[in-house]
Amino acid sequence: MSCKTILASKVSASFRNQIKEDIKERNIKPKLVGFLANEDPAAMKYAEWTSKTCAETGVEFELRKISKLELEEKITEANDDKSINGIMVYYPVFGGKQDLYLQSCVSELKDVEGLCHKFVHNVYHNIRFMDETETMKCIIPCTPLACVKILEYIGVYNPVIPYGNRLYGRTIAVINRSEIVGRPLAAMLANDGAKVYSVDVNGIQVFTRGTGIKLAHHKVEDIDATVEQIIPQCDVVITGVPTPKYKMPTSLLKDGVVAINFSSSANFEDDIKTKASIFVPSVGKVTVAMLERNLLRLHDYQNDLTEK
Ligand code: NAD
Repeated sequence: MSCKTILASKVSASFRNQIKEDIKERNIKPKLVGFLANEDPAAMKYAEWTSKTCAETGVEFELRKISKLELEEKITEANDDKSINGIMVYYPVFGGKQDLYLQSCVSELKDVEGLCHKFVHNVYHNIRFMDETETMKCIIPCTPLACVKILEYIGVYNPVIPYGNRLYGRTIAVINRSEIVGRPLAAMLANDGAKVYSVDVNGIQVFTRGTGIKLAHHKVEDIDATVEQIIPQCDVVITGVPTPKYKMPTSLLKDGVVAINFSSSANFEDDIKTKASIFVPSVGKVTVAMLERNLLRLHDYQNDLTEK
């Protein structure tokens, strides 16, 4: 068995160090405010990690525990508060469409999670800059971005191929098509050249830029296939099913597969290392590093510090 387990702490270390050095060298103190309006233990854990990582890197993090009903008003106040550089909300709050509305209440210049309409729209349309002069890169949703950084770290992105096409030739399955993680992730991977099978309870879709990656951004097709048919074709399988009951059968996986789990539950079976070449059991620490990276970027946009 020669499977290598890659921990998120290892992937996030170089990002954390870079952020820490940058903050120290420039003598700045970016401030992030997190709104916690639910009782979800996973959200609390994420808030604790965020707080710890921010303290280590020199970011000021303030967790504000509030009731659901005052969340919109508190977001608006934070949007107008010049001392705050970034705002995040621990979801789900109300669940469903009201959460989508709240995501779009966060000012796009403070949206460290990259979940407002403009940023998600830009991911779907492969628009990489916020401005016409291309000085302000778009903010990318943190967990999809963390998965991309992990794929770069382990060499699934091929650096010999030009930037923007580096997943050309790879077949990837993403098991989860939520608006927060799975669908933007499938879109980003397809925009970078991969053929992506997006699997959810209501069916399987394929995201691609077509044969020869001719399209400028991905297209989506519904396909009449089963998980049993598509998983054996995949070089990479990324899971995000939020229940411990769900297990991706090891027997379906291609020998030497790259297996990545972003769910808070273990979605692969215990014998995953008998089939995988690389196994990434969780991504949370990379997500927090991406949150801080986005915060620094927004801090510079707010202070007009972009390179012209
Ligand atoms: P969500 O509940 O919004 O979405 C889950 C999706 O999985 C839904 O679309 C659901 O239909 C789908 N699903 C459920 N059962 C399935 C099955 N058997 N096959 C295929 N799809 C199935 O949750 P989310 O926000 O996308 O988060 C998913 C998981 O990822 C959670 O465990 C969450 O804690 C975790 N998460 C991790 C990070 C991180 O950085 N580590 C960040 C966000 C979310």
